[in-house]
Amino acid sequence: MSMEFTDRLTRVEPSATLAISALATELENEGADVVDLSVGEPDFPTPENIVEAGKDAMDAGHTGYTTSAGIIDLREAIADKLADDGLDHGPEEIIVTPGAKQALYEIVQALIGDGDEVVLLDPAWVSYEAMVKMAGGDLTRVDLSDSDFQLEPALDDLADAVSDETELLIVNSPSNPTGAVYSDAALEGVRDLAVEHDITVISDEIYKEITYGVEPTSLGTLEGMADRTVTVNGFSKAYSMTGWRLGYFAGPEELIDQAGKLHSHSVSSAVNFVQHAGIEALENTDDAVSEMTEAFAERRDLVVDLLEDHGVDVAVPEGAFYMMLPVDDDDQAWCEGAIEDAHVATVPGSAFGTPGYARISYAASEERLEEGIERLAEEGYL
Ligand code: PLP
Repeated sequence: MSMEFTDRLTRVEPSATLAISALATELENEGADVVDLSVGEPDFPTPENIVEAGKDAMDAGHTGYTTSAGIIDLREAIADKLADDGLDHGPEEIIVTPGAKQALYEIVQALIGDGDEVVLLDPAWVSYEAMVKMAGGDLTRVDLSDSDFQLEPALDDLADAVSDETELLIVNSPSNPTGAVYSDAALEGVRDLAVEHDITVISDEIYKEITYGVEPTSLGTLEGMADRTVTVNGFSKAYSMTGWRLGYFAGPEELIDQAGKLHSHSVSSAVNFVQHAGIEALENTDDAVSEMTEAFAERRDLVVDLLEDHGVDVAVPEGAFYMMLPVDDDDQAWCEGAIEDAHVATVPGSAFGTPGYARISYAASEERLEEGIERLAEEGYL
């Protein structure tokens, strides 16, 4: 039997981050001690009160299907959180998903059809490209690498890239993979272009809670953006809940109605007891989030200092837990060599649309970060 797969799938690459992680696991299974700086996963356990809330919810029998969009108590808690960020969305404008990735997938599927134009800011998180291609859309990419990954100096390039044909722009601040937090002036520039060309914008705010001395503005709070912004967030990063799979999106009701059909016909709902744990996360976990963020800030400083000691300057991240390390033009070969020779896993910048860099995740412990950088230096990779 020979199968015919759709172009939409065959033109998509498997996730580069997950591929490197799989390689790291393979080496570990062979007995190697791999320092894994590839994976975007906090190394902290999920805060105990959230775990307990999940267990309690299971004990209380919250194990059946829920309303497709998510239980009302969680959507109300999310609406309150969004209100704290200055965003006005009632529960009817929110869909709870199994992870922010699913949220992004549903929005892109709802908005993008064959030949629709989508603009990405490079380097851009790996799955955006795949999602757009799976929906049949076409990509235009704006390179931010000449401006230390900041958007404000590159607004003219963005203006050249968008047109009345542009359907969707995806903005991710704090950014994966650069850790950049875009300035208010940059976001206002996005707003002006979005309004001028009638563009819908996804604001992926999954790292909003993890910042170092800056307060990122939510794009949807800017005048003119409320009814053209879809805000995405989730629990994986801020609450160290990657495997619980819980995220959400909030946007204009019309979009929620359309995406809601896709959601109900595909995932039904996020896991019932996980949704209950999500309420606890939103309502009672501020201290744990601050502690984790402080730890990330220390790790960031450590890595920046260690790299500087080896003569490597990086654009210092202001949020998330990633930074871009400038490497050889052939970043793919650099990353393969680094994992084979130094047993240090990183992700090639080309996976994010920006060759010449490797992404380091500093969600690992200080000891592992020190060990990883030492090994890269010893093997001649710094
Ligand atoms: N958006 C960005 C920028 C991410 O980095 C990630 C995960 O790495 C996601 C969305 C998806 O997160 P989740 O684990 O909630 O699916």
